[in-house]
Amino acid sequence: MKRLVVVGNGMAGIACLEQVLKHQAQFQVTVFGDETHANYNRIMLSSVLAGEKAADDIVINPVEWYTERGIDLRVGVRIVDVNSEAKTVTGADGSVTPYDTLLLATGSNAFLPPIGGLEKSGVLVFRTLDDTRELLQRAGPGVKAVVIGGGLLGLEAARGLQVQGCDVTVLHLASTLMERQLDPDGGGYLVGKIEDLGVNVRLGVTTTAILGGDSVEGVALSDDTVLDAEIVVVAAGIRPNVDLAYKAGLHVNRGIVVNDHMETSDPDIFAVGECVEHQGVCYGLVAPLYEQGKVLAATLTGNRGPTYTGTVQAAKLKIMGVDVFSAGDWSEQNAEPVRFEDRALGIYKKITVRDGRLAGVILVGDTSDSHRYMDWLRTNADISDQRRYLLFPPPSADGGLDVASMSDGATICGCVGVTKGTIIAAIHDKGVNTMSQLKECTRASTSCGSCTALCQDLLRAVAPEFEDERKTVICGCLPFAEDRLRDILRSQKLKSVQEVLDIYGNGHGCEVCKPALSYILDMLWCGDHDEDRSARYINDRVHANIQKDGTFSVIPRMRGGVTTPDELRRIADVADKYHVPMVKVTGSQRIDLLGIRKADLPKVWAELGMPSGQAYTKGVRMVKTCVGTEFCRFGTQDSTGAGIEMERRFENLFTPHKVKMATVGCPRNCAEATVKDIGLIGMEGGWQVMVGGAAGKSVRKADLLITVETTEQALEAAEIFFQYYREQANYLERTYDFVERLGIEKVRKETVYAPEAVRQALRDRLHKSKARSSDAWLEGQSPRTASQFVPLRALDTVRA
Ligand SMILES: Cc1cc2nc3c(=O)[nH]c(=O)nc-3n(C[C@H](O)[C@H](O)[C@H](O)COP(=O)(O)OP(=O)(O)OC[C@H]3O[C@@H](n4cnc5c(N)ncnc54)[C@H](O)[C@@H]3O)c2cc1C
Ligand code: SF4
Repeated sequence: MKRLVVVGNGMAGIACLEQVLKHQAQFQVTVFGDETHANYNRIMLSSVLAGEKAADDIVINPVEWYTERGIDLRVGVRIVDVNSEAKTVTGADGSVTPYDTLLLATGSNAFLPPIGGLEKSGVLVFRTLDDTRELLQRAGPGVKAVVIGGGLLGLEAARGLQVQGCDVTVLHLASTLMERQLDPDGGGYLVGKIEDLGVNVRLGVTTTAILGGDSVEGVALSDDTVLDAEIVVVAAGIRPNVDLAYKAGLHVNRGIVVNDHMETSDPDIFAVGECVEHQGVCYGLVAPLYEQGKVLAATLTGNRGPTYTGTVQAAKLKIMGVDVFSAGDWSEQNAEPVRFEDRALGIYKKITVRDGRLAGVILVGDTSDSHRYMDWLRTNADISDQRRYLLFPPPSADGGLDVASMSDGATICGCVGVTKGTIIAAIHDKGVNTMSQLKECTRASTSCGSCTALCQDLLRAVAPEFEDERKTVICGCLPFAEDRLRDILRSQKLKSVQEVLDIYGNGHGCEVCKPALSYILDMLWCGDHDEDRSARYINDRVHANIQKDGTFSVIPRMRGGVTTPDELRRIADVADKYHVPMVKVTGSQRIDLLGIRKADLPKVWAELGMPSGQAYTKGVRMVKTCVGTEFCRFGTQDSTGAGIEMERRFENLFTPHKVKMATVGCPRNCAEATVKDIGLIGMEGGWQVMVGGAAGKSVRKADLLITVETTEQALEAAEIFFQYYREQANYLERTYDFVERLGIEKVRKETVYAPEAVRQALRDRLHKSKARSSDAWLEGQSPRTASQFVPLRALDTVRA
C-alpha cells in the first residue's frame, strides 16, 4: 500500500484527505499537525473569542474520525525537514517517516511587521485555538487592548475582545478599514459601524514600538502618541508557510507554486491551501482550499483530469450587526459602477459591471443579496437584461435569492462549494430532512454559516418532511403563525381572548390556544388588555401549584433567596395552623408549603403576608443567588444584591415559559448561573451576562450575551434580553430553545448590540408591563393591600 504523508492537520489538508477517501484509494495515511488539537474550523475562532461558541463546537473531525479510518494522527509533532531524495520527513521529535506521496498543507503564518518589542508577554497573534485561549485568558472588563491591523481578522479580533469587556483600539495604516475589500466610501461606512459598537479606530497611523518591560504596557504610534495596552494583537496579514517547500527544493514564489492539477515541481510532492500559489495568487480564505482539495484528490488517486482554475474571492465580516460583504474586482477601471447609499440606514451598495457582466460587489449594512451576486460572479452571467434590478431584486425575489429560480449548478455554500444540485440529490437520494442531516451529508453550512437560511429555504421547498424550526400555528382553532398573529392583534387593536377567537378563530378556542392568546395579549399591550382569567392555566387561575392529590403547594416570594426571622416565624405559624404536611426547601432557595387545601389558600396568603413566589406560572420564577462579596471571601461582586434587584424588576411578569435566573459573585458559580435562563456571573471589574441555560430535562450551558462593567449595566442587559424573549419567543418556548433557534449572534445583534433607540424601546415596554403588573395573591384578597406586604427594603436589611 502506498504511504501518503500529510503535513498540516488544518482545514485544507483534512478537507483534501476527506476527498481522497471518497475515491476509495488505498493509502496508508499519516497526518502530522504541530497544533495539539484534532482538526477544527479555524474561521470560527472569531466566534470562540466572542464567546458565541466553545472550542468543542468548532471541531470538524474528532480523533475518532482518524482512528475509524486507520489514519495515523500525530498531533503536536512539527515536521522540520523534508528529504525529497530519500522521500522522508523528519519530525521535531526526531521521528523519520518515509512517504511515497507527500502532501504539504502547512497554511500560513501571521505576518509580524518589524516593530521593536513584539517578544513581550501580552503581544499575540490570532491564528490558532491556543492563541484564542490565551486572548480569552487575558481579556476582561476594562482591560486595554490594541489591535494592529484593521483588516477582516483584526476587526474580528477587536470585536471578540470588546465582547469580553476589553477597551479596544484598532490601529490601521490606511485611511479606511478593510481597504483591500472596500472602496473608501464603503470603508467609511464600516468605520462608523465599528465605532458605534464601542471599538476605537485610529486610521493612518503605524505602530513604531511596543512599550513595557517583560509584559506589554503600551504602544507608541507614528503620530507621537502613546496608547496604554495590556494586550496587543498583531493582525497585519499572513504569509504562506513555505519553509518545508524550500527544504524539499520545490519551486516557491510567494507560495508553493502549483499547476492546475495542484502538482508542485516534484512529482511526488503536492500542496494545498493557504501555502500554495496558483497562477500567481495566494489565497487566504476557505472556499479556494475546498475547490483545490477536490482537484488534488482526483490527481492523487490516479484520476488526474479535473483542473483548478482559480476562485472568485469573496469576503464576509463575521461581526454581528456589521454586515459587510465584498467579492470580485470592484475597481472602476474600465467598468461601470452602480451605487446606492442611505446614510440614515447605514447601507452602502456598489457593483461594477464590465462588458455586461458583474465584475465586483461591495455591500455594507445589507448583505442579504450576496448569494445573488456570487452566483452572477461564479457563472459570469450576462446581466444586461437585469439592469433595472441590479441593486434591488424584483419584488417577487425580494428578501433574498429565490431558491427555486437558481440553477442546479448554483453554489449555495460558498465556503465548502456545495451546489443546489448536490443538496437536492442529498434530499432525494439520501432522505435528508433536517439541517443537521444536511450538514452531515453535504458539509453545507458547516463553515461560516452564512448560507444557513438558503439551505433551509431549499429544505423547505424540496424535503417532504422538513420541519421548520419555527412552529407554524399554535393550534387548529387559530390558523395563524404566532408572529402573524401578533401583527394582527396589534394592527386590529384586539385586546381580549374571546374577541380574537370570535373574529379570527373558531369562536371557542381550546386549552392550547387560550393560555397562549392570554399571554400574547398581555405582552403586546403591556398589561393593558382585558384579562380573562378563565383562559389561563389552572395554576394561574388559583395562584398556586396543583399537586397530584388535588392539594396545592404555596411558595412565597423571597427575593434572591433572602428572608427574615419575622417571615420565617410567619411561615412556621401558617404551617402549624393549617397542618401543612410538608415544609420543604426547594432547589431554588425557597420554602415550599405542600399539601394545602384549596379552600385555605386565601387565608394562607393573607397570614403569610408575603407576595406570591409565582412558582406555578409560565412567568418569572426566582433568582437564585450566592453569598457574593457580602460574606464570601472569593466574592468579586455583590451577587445577592444584584439578584434581589433583578427579581424585583422582573417579578409578577408573564413570559412565554418559565424563567429562572441566578447571580453569582465569582466564576466558582455556586448558584449555577450558567444553567439558568438568565445568569449574571461576577468577575473582577464586571459581570458576564449569560442567557439560554438549562439544567432540567434539557441541559444547556448558557451563552455569553455581553460582558459589562457595572451592576446596573448587567441588569439593563438582562432587562433587554428578557423583554426581547417575551416579545419574540413562541409561546411555551424556553430560552434555551429560543436562543438555540435564533443563534446567540442574532440575539446579541437584536438586543444588547441593537441601536440605542431599540434597546430603550424594549426597556420602556418592559417597564410599562411591570408598572401594570400586580401580585397574584392580592387578587384573591379584597381587603388587603400591597402595603401589608413586607416592603422590599425590609427584605434587604437582612443583608446589612
Ligand atoms: C480567526 C480567523 C478567522 C477567519 N475567518 C475566515 C472567514 O470568515 N472566511 C474564510 O474564508 N476564511 C477565514 N479565515 C481563513 C481560513 O481559516 C484559512 O483560509 C484556512 O484555515 C486555511 O487552511 P489551511 O489548511 O491552508 O491552513 P491552516 O488551517 O492554518 O492549517 C495548517 C496547519 O498546518 C500546521 N503546520 C504548519 N506547518 C507545520 C509543520 N511543519 N508540521 C506540522 N504541522 C504544521 C499548522 O499548525 C496548522 O494547523 C480565518 C482565519 C482566522 C485565523
Ligand atoms: S460563586 Fe464565588 S462569590 Fe459566590 S459563594 Fe461561590 S465562591 Fe463565593
